[in-house]
This record gives sequence, C-alpha cells and structure tokens, in this order.
Amino acid sequence: MTAAADVRLDDLPLRADLRGKSPYGAPQLDVEVRLNTNENPYPPPPELVADIAAACEEAARELHRYPDRDAVALREDLAAYLSRQTGVELGVGNLWAANGSNEILQQLLQTFGGPGRTALGFVPSYSMHPILSAGTQTEFVPAPRRDDFSIDVEAAVATLRDRAPDITFVTSPNNPTGQSIAPEDLARLVDAAPGMVIVDEAYAEFAEATGRPSATTLLATHGHKLVVSRTMSKAFAFAGGRLGYLAAAPAVVDALQLVRLPYHLSVLAQASARAALRHADATLGSVAVLAAERDRVSAELDAAGYDVVHSDANFVLFGRFADAGRAWKGFLERGVLIRDVGIPERLRVTIGTPEENDAFLQVATDLATKEL
Ligand code: PMP
Repeated sequence: MTAAADVRLDDLPLRADLRGKSPYGAPQLDVEVRLNTNENPYPPPPELVADIAAACEEAARELHRYPDRDAVALREDLAAYLSRQTGVELGVGNLWAANGSNEILQQLLQTFGGPGRTALGFVPSYSMHPILSAGTQTEFVPAPRRDDFSIDVEAAVATLRDRAPDITFVTSPNNPTGQSIAPEDLARLVDAAPGMVIVDEAYAEFAEATGRPSATTLLATHGHKLVVSRTMSKAFAFAGGRLGYLAAAPAVVDALQLVRLPYHLSVLAQASARAALRHADATLGSVAVLAAERDRVSAELDAAGYDVVHSDANFVLFGRFADAGRAWKGFLERGVLIRDVGIPERLRVTIGTPEENDAFLQVATDLATKEL
C-alpha cells in the first residue's frame, strides 16, 4: 500500500507515449515586465469590466441550469464580428466556439486525426500543434520552413502530395516567427492537401491591421477542406476569458459535435465573451497601437545590431545569440521576461505597452554589446 503523497508519476500506469514528456507552459514568473505569452498588454477598460460583471450577474441567476450547449447567441455574435472584420459573410452555422483555440484545435484533431492518422505542420510553429496531436494519438509530421522561416510553397506542395496528411496546420501569422502566408499561396497548399487544412489565425487581427487578409476569404472556394481557427486571447485582450472559435463549412461544425463535451462552454464564459464582443471596437483600438509598436521595436532592435524576423503579429523573433538560453537569463536578471522558444540563437519578445517596450529595448541595447 502506498500513501497518495508518496506516489510518483513513474509509478502510474501512464500511456506509454506520454512517459517522459513535459507539460506545455511558459514560466509564470513574477517579473516587472512580462513579455512572454503574446497577450494584449492593455487591461479591459472599466466600461467593459462593468458590462461583464452585469452580464455575469444576470447569468448567475440561471446557474442551476446547464448552459446553451450550442452557444447559439455567442456564435451569432462571433459570426457578426468575424464578418465585419474580414468582409466575408458568415452565419451562426459557420462558427463554433470553445475554451480557447487550443480546445478548438483539440476538437479538430479528435474529429479528423486520431490513431493511424497524421497531422503535418511547417516548423518551427506553435508548439501545441505537436502536443495536441500526441494527446489525440495523431502522428505529427514536421515539414521544414526556409531559413528565413517562410514557407517554400513549391516544396510544401510536393511534401503534401507525398505525405498525404489527414490534417495540415498552417499558422498565419506564424508563432513564433511572425510572418503570414498570402491567400494565393495558402490556396495552393489547400489544393495540394488531401485532408483538412487548419489555418491557425490566433494573431490575425494584427496582420489584418496591416492589410493582410484572413484565410476566411478562401472559404467560398475551399470550404470543403478549410478550417480557420481564431481566438479572443490575443488582440481581443481576453486571454483569461478562454474563448476560441473557428470558421468553416457548417458540416465541419456538425462533425465537431461528435467529440465536443456537452456544455463545454460555461454560462459565465458565454456571457463574458458576448460582453467583450460588444466592446470589440474599443478593444481592437489597441491593435493599431501594438502594430505600430511592433514596427518600432523591430526597427530599434535592428539598429542595435540584432537580426530581426519580419512580423505581422504582436511579437518579434530576434537574435542572434551564441547561447539563447543564457541571453534569456540575461533579460530575466534585468527584470524583463521574454521567451526562449527553442529556436537556436533566437528569442521571442511580445509587444507590450510603449513603457514596457522601452524597458525591454533598454536591456536589449545593453546586452547587444555583451557576448551572449
Ligand atoms: N494558436 C497559436 C498560434 C497561439 O500562439 C496560441 C496561444 N499561444 C493559441 C493558438 C492558443 O490560444 P488560446 O487557447 O488562448 O486561444
């Protein structure tokens, strides 16, 4: 007999493919300047906080009941927002919502991946794609990007034909490198991919602010294979609210019903997200400010002698460091938390408020002269 406190992970009859793995997660450290998880640095304005509180008070009166399992009102609001944002006419049947886009991606893998199936992604990209694939026992197939981190479309088309993945991930703008893919290039990938193509647009609003269209524009022609995943965690300043969504053919939304947990989105999450959507214009006012700050940070890093990857998102990948891990510590010791994403010689910084960016740039300039 073993006391619960004495049981170790290795003692458990864990699935063989999970043994030795580490959970995903950036360090949550109490540092003055936190620029490591690509959040919007601006907290919700008082009117939005009041609106969420009122909506939750109202919803609380019904907390003894399960929520609307299909989240219809929320999906209608999301459809209206996304139609306005992208110029593509979308209805409630095209939209699905979940607890963050991570859950959206997981549901897609549960539906279209699984044992014996493959998911291909162009690496480096969002590290949860392989982890969610592993969790659903979908084999993840990494396909390389060019040295400048762009996708070589010719090569990608050949790889897709050759490997015939059941799912293809395209992250646009790509995390952690920042570039977005042009719709005509994406269309070629979707044409070549035999299975579903999931375009992960977690950072799309930042790219749309600089004239780069959403992949939703391709739904009219490529709707049988295309799914566009989005989130309220980034531009929408709603990371704590946990609300992700997708746009796709209504049949895709129907398919996801086969795997989603019943009542997965709480009454409070649905009410809060709807309140946040009512304030979309005010919240998204920060997107242009952040895009301008991104360009300023990129230019100043460049002037300080760093190699900067062009970004359409709210973060910038920069280097080169002899030892990225040591450089990351150097920033941390000077009060600035950024992200070591595991790409040799490079680190990623999230764009913060102008003051936070100044603090980061000050440290970056100091460190540029040291041999890191
Ligand atoms: N996709 C990408 C590319 C991301 O960077 C993130 C957040 N780091 C997500 C999806 C998931 O975000 P959330 O679950 O908060 O919507």
